[in-house]
Amino acid sequence: MKAAVAGTGYVGLFTGVILSELGHSVICIDTDRGKVALMDMGQPPIHEPGLAPMMKKNLEAGRLCFTTDYEEGCKGADAIFIAVGTPEDKNGRADLRFVREACMSIGRAVTSDVTVVTKSTVPVGTNDLIKDWINFELRDSSFEASVVSNPEFLRQGSAVHDSLYADRVIIGADDQNAGDLVEALYFPLNLPVIRTDIRSAEMIKYASNAFLAMKISFINEIAQLSERIGADVEEVAAGMGKDERIGSRFLQAGIGYGGSCFPKDTKALKGMAGDMGYSFKLLDAVEQVNMQQQTVLVEKALNRFGSVDGLRVTVLGLSFKPNTDDMREAPSVVIINQLLALGAHVSAYDPAAAAKAKNILPSSVRLVHELELSLYNSDFVFLVTDWAEFKRMDLRKVKWYTKQGILFDGRNIFSSEEARQAGIEYHSIGRPVIY
Ligand code: NAD
Repeated sequence: MKAAVAGTGYVGLFTGVILSELGHSVICIDTDRGKVALMDMGQPPIHEPGLAPMMKKNLEAGRLCFTTDYEEGCKGADAIFIAVGTPEDKNGRADLRFVREACMSIGRAVTSDVTVVTKSTVPVGTNDLIKDWINFELRDSSFEASVVSNPEFLRQGSAVHDSLYADRVIIGADDQNAGDLVEALYFPLNLPVIRTDIRSAEMIKYASNAFLAMKISFINEIAQLSERIGADVEEVAAGMGKDERIGSRFLQAGIGYGGSCFPKDTKALKGMAGDMGYSFKLLDAVEQVNMQQQTVLVEKALNRFGSVDGLRVTVLGLSFKPNTDDMREAPSVVIINQLLALGAHVSAYDPAAAAKAKNILPSSVRLVHELELSLYNSDFVFLVTDWAEFKRMDLRKVKWYTKQGILFDGRNIFSSEEARQAGIEYHSIGRPVIY
């Protein structure tokens, strides 16, 4: 089949690459000329394990191409996916500007009836608007648009795996044929498909993200209490996670969630509830806890040193999670700004995100390109992102290279025993301090 994908961020590029991998002919449309030129040469604009070879393979096979031109992109497409961004607006709602622009461009470009598939995360009811926006552009023609909601659940950092082995494909359609068409596109993946009405599909996406955010904030509150009461949150989470009704994933205590989805989607769901006159009380608490967790490392350092004014701090990890260079809503930015405001000197190292971080962080932050170099002469270390490189690190390096061998681990990637053996002072989340 032939598919077009509007928007080639994480979601759009993956949708395009995976559909081409399944043998479909795919054309990806993006308004960013620079990005399209880069991708045309086989270079993904994002860091994501496994993406580049799959993209190159399908480009060379002629099944995947890129354009800025909607007419070229939409020509003869059986389905047109919308995967543009839906960032948070100034009121905490989903900004639908890019979705609307994409709809207008699609409506002006198509030359037949069209099935439009919404992958972008959009508030419940938006697909009705999408249909209206496209059909408005088609008003002088005999063509019509059908819409299907097909929310995306990939996780940055493991997106190839998540796309090929997704737990489920959600297809929300009021038009049976349009839903069948999308199901046929995914058929080779042999994944469980759940068919719903459009509004339920839109809601599944928000409810899933909000639930995961809630799980993270829940374990972070247990961590706060564990520290005060003398329990070890890692042992608590391991014990809880064995219960199949709870499950072990998203029970890692730490410095809170970030990224382009959880913060904005929880806010947007709260906003939707508010619009319906309902106050989503749980989500207020989820957000409050998350904000509190982002200050935990700095509070621990202040308790330890009294003041961090003039101290040298090494921050390990900048991206919001490992295996990606995405800096959107990264807790590292909040933490570094807190440190700078308190007069600390910050050096930072990240295996992939330094280039993107450079445009976001204040210029006084020293970005170092090697882990060991970042540690030299530092008063203490903050571990902010749980990259495998840090997990593999010989912890004794913190003792050897820093002034006093003090590590504040915001992701609990080391065991208390490892810290003891390395002879460092080890502060983590929800566990006793190791001296
Ligand atoms: P992104 O911001 O990385 O990419 C959006 C892309 O759309 C950009 O390349 C931009 O140039 C392009 N664009 C903007 N307007 C356009 C237009 N009119 N026509 C064509 N292209 C246009 O976004 P993302 O992170 O891929 O997210 C896309 C959507 O998917 C969002 O709604 C997001 O909430 C959702 N989502 C994201 C993830 C994730 O992990 N990033 C996971 C699931 C769902």
